[in-house]
Amino acid sequence: MGGNYLDRKAIAKIFRCEHLDQEKCTVEMLKILHDNKAVCPHCKNQLEEHKRKRFFENRMVNCSTCGKIFNGVSKTILSKRNPAKIFLYCFLKGNGFSRTEIAEIAGVSYPTIKHFDDLFDFLETKDRE
Ligand SMILES: [Zn+2]
Repeated sequence: MGGNYLDRKAIAKIFRCEHLDQEKCTVEMLKILHDNKAVCPHCKNQLEEHKRKRFFENRMVNCSTCGKIFNGVSKTILSKRNPAKIFLYCFLKGNGFSRTEIAEIAGVSYPTIKHFDDLFDFLETKDRE
């Protein structure tokens, strides 16, 4: 590419989580985490179509089988975590950035990046089973 384009060093220098919309990041991450399947995190009942839509919009739904209330984030790696950080982690990881670069850009510690690696390795392993 020509010299007029920005490279990864330019991104690493200025791009941060604060530049991302938290809600949109959450919605994107839900697609990845749930692999298009909307099930109750408590009893694994598959949600009806209208609830499925709400689930992927990260709105609260109630399970018609067990009655519990939850959203797409419940009982996932997104609960109690900043969705923009996870989104950024996935983007940077997928584009070949190193753990050190990801830690810097996403604003998380190096051990946290290793923890995310383990969590996503686990998700991939689970998918293959
Ligand atoms: Zn349920």
